[in-house]
Amino acid sequence: MYPPNFDYVAPATLDEALAALAASDNAKVLSGGMSLIPLMKLRLVRPTTVVDISRISGLDAITDEGDHISIGALVKHAETASNALVAEHATALGQAAGATADIQVRNQGTTCGSIAHADLAADQPAAALALGATMSVASVRGTREIAAADFFVDTLTSALEPDEILVKITIPKGGKSAYRKLGRRGGESDYPIAAAAVWVDGSNGSISAARVAVTGVGPKPYLASESAAAIVGSSGSGEAIAAAASHATDGITVLEDLYGSVEYRSHLAKVYVKRALEDVLA
Ligand SMILES: Cc1cc2nc3c(=O)[nH]c(=O)nc-3n(C[C@H](O)[C@H](O)[C@H](O)COP(=O)(O)OP(=O)(O)OC[C@H]3O[C@@H](n4cnc5c(N)ncnc54)[C@H](O)[C@@H]3O)c2cc1C
Repeated sequence: MYPPNFDYVAPATLDEALAALAASDNAKVLSGGMSLIPLMKLRLVRPTTVVDISRISGLDAITDEGDHISIGALVKHAETASNALVAEHATALGQAAGATADIQVRNQGTTCGSIAHADLAADQPAAALALGATMSVASVRGTREIAAADFFVDTLTSALEPDEILVKITIPKGGKSAYRKLGRRGGESDYPIAAAAVWVDGSNGSISAARVAVTGVGPKPYLASESAAAIVGSSGSGEAIAAAASHATDGITVLEDLYGSVEYRSHLAKVYVKRALEDVLA
């Protein structure tokens, strides 16, 4: 199936790309194309202009920036999954990237594209939430930063304006994190039915800070704040982990579809929060 006709531009610089987005009232950024192209072929989106950012130099690096690491807009899932800085400082994101789709998609799609796409069941947005990532965004009007907690607005809806490009995400160093997932066909390399990313920090056997994120369960990837609150101040014992996991869907409208009932998904959310917490607190 072919998409409707559209104008295609492939700017060499970020400024040219931002100008192209600003010049059209129905433009879309094309990055790896792993979600945009299928949506266009299905005619679920019909941009009149596609702005291909894949030829812009300087956006494809994972960088150590002192107290945080940054991941540029054109970093592919496969690079995020295998990068040593990510493994050390953002373990959950590396694991989520490695569990995203199949190797062909991981070699083409980008971490920032997955975050910008904001699918309700995407892997890497949950890791970005748990890790307290910040999204750096640019448009012809300037730049701004959006906390991950404010970025995922609804199903396939982020806080990005139509003329904005997600230029990089930054992740603070510190703490430990993990990602655990049940894919739709039982394995990892498919959208999750339920998955959880967790981050904890602490010393002397006591947890001083935590974030717990869940994806595939509600209308968007979300922070399970009650789960995090339940583990903070504890020693991370089995009882504390079970108590935290029991709050994984508090306040969430759990979705039902061909892959799972409300009851099954609610159960899985708790199981996968528990497993991810066990990974970091073992
Ligand atoms: C067979 C298959 C299996 C998949 N399985 C999974 C899976 O298991 N888990 C999972 O999480 N995902 C999965 N996906 C989805 C896919 O991995 C991501 O959604 C995709 O890679 C997004 O990145 P991209 O660079 O390809 O973005 P594109 O497809 O180019 O763009 C996606 C959307 O984000 C916007 N966008 C992209 N980059 C930017 C940017 N830098 N700034 C602003 N807007 C931007 C585009 O305008 C578009 O709306 C699968 C996809 C396929 C085809």
